[in-house]
Amino acid sequence: YQRIVLASRPQGEISPDNFRLEILAVPEIQDGEVLIRNHYLSLDPYMRGRMQDSKSYAEPQPLNATMIGGTVGEIIATKNPRFAVGDQVISMSGWTEMAVSDGSLLRKLDTTHIPLSAYLGAVGMPGLTAWYGLTQIMQPKAGETVVVSAASGAVGSVVGQLARQRGCRVVGIAGGQEKCAYVVDELGFDACIDYKADDWQAALTAATPDGVDALYENVGGAVFDATLTRMNPFGRIALCGMIAGYNGEPVPIQNSRVFLTMRLTMRGFIVSEHMDLWPQGLQELGAQVASGQLKFRESVAQGLAQAPEALIGLLKGRNFGKQLVRLI
Ligand code: NDP
Repeated sequence: YQRIVLASRPQGEISPDNFRLEILAVPEIQDGEVLIRNHYLSLDPYMRGRMQDSKSYAEPQPLNATMIGGTVGEIIATKNPRFAVGDQVISMSGWTEMAVSDGSLLRKLDTTHIPLSAYLGAVGMPGLTAWYGLTQIMQPKAGETVVVSAASGAVGSVVGQLARQRGCRVVGIAGGQEKCAYVVDELGFDACIDYKADDWQAALTAATPDGVDALYENVGGAVFDATLTRMNPFGRIALCGMIAGYNGEPVPIQNSRVFLTMRLTMRGFIVSEHMDLWPQGLQELGAQVASGQLKFRESVAQGLAQAPEALIGLLKGRNFGKQLVRLI
C-alpha cells in the first residue's frame, strides 16, 4: 500500500519535492488492533503550518513520518471486539491508504443518511470550525450583517448558511465569479464579493450598506483590512485562519485603529481545543446535511500520488469546496 511522508521542510511555497511516496507491505495486526482501508483523505490548510519547524499551537510534523491528516475508511481486518469488518470509521491515519489502529481514536460513522466524505467536511472538523466561530464568538442576531471570507470553502460555506438561518444578512468574499455565483445562487448568501475583480472595494461597501456586525475571517491580508473599516461599534471577529500568509507572505493589518474606535472584539481559536462542544455541533450539522438543508461542495483528487499537488492548489485557491483525495 502507499503512504506519503514529509521529506523536507518548505521555504515559502511548498513543492512536490517536500513529499515522498513510499510503498509498504500490508501489516499484520495484533490482538486488540484493526486494519483500516482509507477511502478519502482530507486536505486542510493547517497542514502547511505543520510542515514548518516554528512555534505554533501544535508540534511540527516529523520528517520521514506519514503526513498528518484526517481520513475516512472501512475496517478490513479486526482483532478488536469493538469493530467488525465493514465498519466505517474516521481517524487521523494521515496520508496513507492503510493504517493499523488499536481502536482508541477511531469513531464509527453512520452513512445511512450522510455520505462518508461529508464526515471530513460539513459534518466534520471544518463544519465544526464554522459552527464554533459563529455560535461561540460571533453570536450574530437576526438582522445583523455578517461577512465571511473564503466563502465557497469547507468552513466558509457552512458559516454563511448557518448565519443565514439565524436571520442575518450574509455577505461572502471569494476568488472569482464562478465561486461567487455558487455562494449566492446555491448557498443562498445575500451577496458575494469577488476580491479578484478590480472594483472589489466599492462592491464591499455597496454590499454592506448598514456596516458589518460580525466577521468570520479565514484569509487575512488586504481584504480583511478593508473589511475592518466597515465594522460597526462593538463588532465581533472570529479569527479562524489567515491562509493568505501560510506560505510566508506578510499579512499586515493597517487599519488596527478601528479596534479602538469601534470597540471591536477579535478572538482567535483552535477548534480541536473545544472537543466538549463537538457532539452538540456535529449533531446540528449532521441533521442538516442528512435533510439536505446544509449544502456543500467537494473537490476530489484521484489517488494518493495527487495529494501534494492538491495541497499546493488548496493554498492557492484552486479548490472549489472541501478538498479531498479519493484513495480507492
Ligand atoms: P477552504 O476550503 O476554504 O480552501 C481554502 C480557500 O482559501 C481557497 O479555496 C481560497 O478561496 C482561499 N485561499 C487560498 N489561498 C489563498 C491566498 N493565498 N489568498 C487568499 N485566499 C486564499 O479551506 P478550509 O475551509 O478548510 O479553511 C478555511 C480557513 O479556516 C483556513 O484559513 C484554515 O486555516 C482555517 N481553519 C481554522 C481552523 C481553526 O481551528 N482555527 C480549523 C479549520 C480551518 P478563494 O479562491 O475564494 O480565495
